Amino acid sequence: MSVLGAKDHYRGNPGLLYGEKFAGKKVRDYLDGKFEMIPKTKEHIFVDADKCIGDACAICYTLCPGGAYEMIDGKAVWAFGMTNCMECGICQYVCTVGAIDWSYPEAGTGVVLKWS
Ligand code: SF4
Ligand code: SF4
Repeated sequence: MSVLGAKDHYRGNPGLLYGEKFAGKKVRDYLDGKFEMIPKTKEHIFVDADKCIGDACAICYTLCPGGAYEMIDGKAVWAFGMTNCMECGICQYVCTVGAIDWSYPEAGTGVVLKWS
């Protein structure tokens, strides 16, 4: 199973964890086939653009292992989250200004691990 596919969206400097040479690629390879993504019914992570300091930070974009974020008009947007978010929680902890409103997707949707 191809876990995540949006590899064309990042800027010239790929997200640190999302880039092919870094941990995100390894995480995705490791998880390949070990989880299923049940289609989500509604967005569950939101960025408050008024709080987001955008390109001066871009930490969520840089560290998200799923490549769920894009920087648009100088602000972070959870643009690929509905398909790419792995529900790891990193983004909410690294945002120093509290701009990310984080929650799990609706019950029965999103990541389902298959470790057996
Ligand atoms: S970590 Fe927070 S402040 Fe930084 S770009 Fe992301 S949402 Fe904006
Ligand atoms: S929880 Fe945040 S950091 Fe983790 S995959 Fe989802 S959007 Fe990316």
